[in-house]
Amino acid sequence: MDIQHDLFGAALAPIVDDPITEPALLPLAAPCGFRNRKNAPCQRLAYRPLRCDGKHLTSNGRPLLHCVMECFNGPSAEDLAVQLEKAIG
Ligand SMILES: [Zn+2]
Repeated sequence: MDIQHDLFGAALAPIVDDPITEPALLPLAAPCGFRNRKNAPCQRLAYRPLRCDGKHLTSNGRPLLHCVMECFNGPSAEDLAVQLEKAIG
């Protein structure tokens, strides 16, 4: 049988504030937004920061990256994996 502890008998441990860590905001690619025209995950070719007057542009706190137009128009990452699988085996 469990003993019910009351809160007034023993001193409680001091409350320690846990540091709140902000989750890292994932970048967003322009123009693809990491989705190709079929709304499938794109090849994620974005790597250069999108800048205007030397300032790195963001969208709702997310850094914007350049993605090549072929990424948006081209096959998705899954399509490339299937093509690679066919080519190898
Ligand atoms: Zn892309």
